[in-house]
Amino acid sequence: MIVDQQQFSEKENILTRLLADEYGIHGTLSKLPGHNDNFLIIQPDGKRYVYKLANVDESTDFLELEQLAVETLASADLGLNLPLHVRTKKGMIESVSSALRGEPTIQGRLLEFIDGKTWFEAGAVKEGQRLDLGRRLAQITSVLATVNHPAIQRSHRWDLTKASVLHKNVKLVKSASRRALLEQTFLRYNAGALPFLDALPHSLIHNDLNDENLLVTKGRVSGILDFGDCLSNPTICELAIALAYVLLDEPDPFTAGAQIITSYHELRPLQVGELEVLFPLICGRLAVSLTVAAEHRLIDPDRSEWFVTEDRAWKALEYYMTVDPLTAAQQLASGTDLNVFSDHSGDIPHEELLKQRQFHFSNALSLSYDEPLTFVRGNAQFLYDDRQRPYLDLYNNVCHVGHCHPRVAAAGYEQMQRLNTNTRYLYHGLTEYAQRLCKTLPSDLQFCFFVNSGTEANELALRLAQVHTGQKDLLVMDGAYHGHTTTMIDISPYKFMGKGGSGHPKEWVHMVPIPDGYRGPFKGQDREAGVAYGNEVGRIVSSIERPIAGFIAESLPSCGGQIIPPVGYLETAFRHVRAVGGVCIVDEVPVGFGRVGTHFWGFELQDVVPDIVVMGKPIGNGHPMAAVVTTPEIADSFAASGMEFFATFGGNPVSCAIGMAVLDVIRDENLQEHALNVGTLLKDGLRGIMDKHSLIGDVRGVGLFIGVELVRNHKTLEPATEEATALINGLRQRGVLTSTDGLYGNVIKIKPPLVITKTDAEMAITIFDDALSQV
Ligand code: PMP
Repeated sequence: MIVDQQQFSEKENILTRLLADEYGIHGTLSKLPGHNDNFLIIQPDGKRYVYKLANVDESTDFLELEQLAVETLASADLGLNLPLHVRTKKGMIESVSSALRGEPTIQGRLLEFIDGKTWFEAGAVKEGQRLDLGRRLAQITSVLATVNHPAIQRSHRWDLTKASVLHKNVKLVKSASRRALLEQTFLRYNAGALPFLDALPHSLIHNDLNDENLLVTKGRVSGILDFGDCLSNPTICELAIALAYVLLDEPDPFTAGAQIITSYHELRPLQVGELEVLFPLICGRLAVSLTVAAEHRLIDPDRSEWFVTEDRAWKALEYYMTVDPLTAAQQLASGTDLNVFSDHSGDIPHEELLKQRQFHFSNALSLSYDEPLTFVRGNAQFLYDDRQRPYLDLYNNVCHVGHCHPRVAAAGYEQMQRLNTNTRYLYHGLTEYAQRLCKTLPSDLQFCFFVNSGTEANELALRLAQVHTGQKDLLVMDGAYHGHTTTMIDISPYKFMGKGGSGHPKEWVHMVPIPDGYRGPFKGQDREAGVAYGNEVGRIVSSIERPIAGFIAESLPSCGGQIIPPVGYLETAFRHVRAVGGVCIVDEVPVGFGRVGTHFWGFELQDVVPDIVVMGKPIGNGHPMAAVVTTPEIADSFAASGMEFFATFGGNPVSCAIGMAVLDVIRDENLQEHALNVGTLLKDGLRGIMDKHSLIGDVRGVGLFIGVELVRNHKTLEPATEEATALINGLRQRGVLTSTDGLYGNVIKIKPPLVITKTDAEMAITIFDDALSQV
């Protein structure tokens, strides 16, 4: 509740009466400097009290909890001065006045006044004071951990585990570079702390032991103020919050922090997991504080007490974000006997690893980014490098339901311990998986072949088409990629027309234009353009003198530049192909399994039913598996040829278990709809920064399949290839992973694990904006 100057005398009158009536206290009343909601009461005998107005949302329960916390600490006899509650004559801890002319009822509590300089005012901190603080924090934490009360499960805006609530307000920060800094901080917090907090010890914490709530006398902590934010949280948050503030003015915050932690650890031994999340929590709390300051600036930019921490926090955060999380954790833990991140560290230094790789692997295997990355672990939408720096993965469509999804990992592990054989035997998993997969497809698509990679699946799809038709010739789309084997390269213009390729198709391969409504001859996404591109397929079909085996198309060309074919394209193209007896193959490898949001499969956007569907990448969430599903007629022709089909690993029980777990997770976590919602937000957000960045020529996408095409000139569409490379490197430096592709390497590919959140999408937009401004 904010009390303005005018209201003060009325409020003062009411409070004066209330103090006399309820508490029997008579004294003069003044506002405590810097706190509109706190009043100092001085009795004629000099005794002082503080009357603290309650926030509107503070129920009696919370006041009771606050009182219990203070009294529990007081009874522990730690020699700390504490703001004990003064009871009313009726023994109540809160007082309620009559309503003030339509204003909300005044509610608050009377507290003992405590003397002392704040940590901030005391300044000039020495080692002894830090060691003392560490011990005090450990003592306070241990005592508060014994408090139990129904209200400890409360949450409010300063609940560090709910930082995402405030995260939304990063947009209120005026400076674009500071917004980007905050987003990178939230990324570290969301990836480096949040996922691991649930598993850590929880207890009641004060939740705001900042440098103004810690009182210091003669270089030692002598009291603590303001229990109004206390709640149950991961216990480590208490230490993190204190460190976030008391280290602000330290010239060497890591050494200073280590001293505090060392003495803390002696009294309340920390767990490794607590030390691992500590630095991201410290950064997260500063980011929250800065976000709140941005909110406050909108309300009243002149209330200086709201901004005491702001400049110092920016300075600290700017420095902290240059320090990698591993170094930070190791330095902070240096006085303990604990070894942080030992389970997932990059044992071999990056440079050494690079050398070893070059010894064993040819340069044909490329590494992403100017500064290649070494990853040591993954979790959901995040990957962590060998310095524990997290990256938001906007690019890995293989780990579809999130990196290292526990249900998928468990399914594989359990099945691997029970049985792993092959399709020459009967087992439930194989047929059950086939049934479940086919349920996602039109009913004609009923016969499954399981293999190990997208390449192998496309090889088989081509064989099926060729055996069924007795023909060899195939139509392929310009820019298409279907795999890395000799034959797949022959049908992949992305390869044979690209670097190191022959530069022309084999005589049995016929290229059709890519249905690109931005760059191609027919513009736009409407049916007219779709039909026009489809008729191009017809034109080429009629130019081929021999009958054809068929046409293979990525439902949404990915390597070709994240293209969304206009509606009517596949329908028209398929009609021309089928008219001459050809088979229509759809390669769903990069896009299937709900990514497009409105549908489970990409081809459904075009309202067609293919004769053969090829699946890969997301199907096993990283476990190497792939599938070909076709009609009874095509499967019959294949069987009738007499040749046995057997792939040693294809459809093994472990793969089937994993495949089913992936389907379960997509369903249970509602990932298809989620892809639509988050994808739309991300696409719209990226479109929203087009005005600022003339480099962006086009932002296109369906669900979480998005392309950002960079051009130097909006009329000539001159591809901004080098700029695209610079952008993905800039994004990588800022903690966001993407790649480039397309015929000219000027399209930023976005195809993240489907579990990215709206918050991640908003974060990514701000970081794109920042990175683009540096290109
Ligand atoms: N088809 C398409 C459309 C692809 O994008 C890819 C892989 N990028 C493949 C097939 C080949 O899959 P894999 O690498 O699993 O062999």
